[in-house]
Amino acid sequence: MITQTVFDSPVFQMACEQYDHIADWLGIGQSERERARLPKRTLVVQVPVRMDDGRVENFQGYRVQHHLTIGPTKGGIRYHPDVTIGEVAALAMWMSWKCALVGLPFGGAKGGVTCDPRKMSIGEIERLTRRFTQELIPIIGPQVDIPAPDLGTNEQTMAWIMDSYSTQVGHSVPGIVTGKPVCIGGSLGRREATGRGVAYLVNRAMDTLKIPAEGASVVIQGFGNVGFHTAFALSRHRTRIVAVSDYRGGIYCKEGLHLDKLAVHIQKTESVVGFEGAEPVSNEELLTLPCDVLIPAAVERQVTADNVGKLRCRILAEAANGPTTVEADHVLRKSDIFLLPDILCNSGGVIVSYFEWVQDLQNFFWTEAEVNDRLYRILEQTFSHVMQFAKREKLYHRDAAMAIGVKKVADAKKVRGLFP
Ligand code: GLU
Repeated sequence: MITQTVFDSPVFQMACEQYDHIADWLGIGQSERERARLPKRTLVVQVPVRMDDGRVENFQGYRVQHHLTIGPTKGGIRYHPDVTIGEVAALAMWMSWKCALVGLPFGGAKGGVTCDPRKMSIGEIERLTRRFTQELIPIIGPQVDIPAPDLGTNEQTMAWIMDSYSTQVGHSVPGIVTGKPVCIGGSLGRREATGRGVAYLVNRAMDTLKIPAEGASVVIQGFGNVGFHTAFALSRHRTRIVAVSDYRGGIYCKEGLHLDKLAVHIQKTESVVGFEGAEPVSNEELLTLPCDVLIPAAVERQVTADNVGKLRCRILAEAANGPTTVEADHVLRKSDIFLLPDILCNSGGVIVSYFEWVQDLQNFFWTEAEVNDRLYRILEQTFSHVMQFAKREKLYHRDAAMAIGVKKVADAKKVRGLFP
């Protein structure tokens, strides 16, 4: 048994503990368990970038491919000052269970560069992205590993990756990344997909608990692509988005925030902070506001042993990856908070990434209605499966979702056997 790895960190430990808990429940033996726990392949690269002032700065970048058993690997690329190899490995592992749970033919992957894109110019970010792509060339490809956006990256980043890769091979390869602009082979509905998926599942959870959507109060931590589109999608059902936050702070308005006006404010100031008619709240206060639905949509490890006892929501919808620690899970498991676990709750993004990849490979593009219809069908099926499984086996929702995902990967590994 390998006891120490380069991935060791609180977040990797957390992903491993979740996995081991399920592996115990499924009765997976020690050697098979180890095989599926540690990432199959990891690349660490130095990314030298010429900065605007003429200096050359070296950044550290990673790509972790968790398992290669079912098909190519899939997952986003994160630009953030806190990126570590352990975090990227944990996120890659969660991608594996997520793809398996919703039935996509992918293993999980994740990439990242430790940098602060907020402090970099567009030109610097472009040069960083192009050089990082160049360094990743040995292990990415439309049949090998397909990156996508994550925290700190967006459609423009994906366009640069697609361009850098295509320039290398001598022809356009749209299938190398997903989440790119529609004009170069992106899919309609990909930008909104994660948020739409979260909103769809929150609605299903509200139906289950018989909470009327109209007037239901929603709190969202993190107002990037996912938080923003979740808010808009939920507001179509006349819910009240009472509080939202970003890295600079939070805002609260009991009657519900006016989202169109908020979008204009964000465009002007690049933050939700200072929005007229709303009171300021800290990120910590925001998590414990009374509400029907609490949606962490930022980074990992936000619901912890320290604050879990103070949550006053009825539904916890994990739009972020890994927002709840294992210690907090021990408390939630016994509470009557309805959990939409991350690998289910935020799966809309990678589902539509899969559609984008399929469209690129076939050079045959779908309408937005087709994309959304297929998205909702997969979400509906998976939601029902997780709920029925949890009920039948008397499992916590996270354990049910994980058990379905982990078992699919374990079964695939078993039937393929060991080479040589
Ligand atoms: N970064 C997103 C996630 O965590 C999307 C990944 C993808 O579309 O490949 O699910």
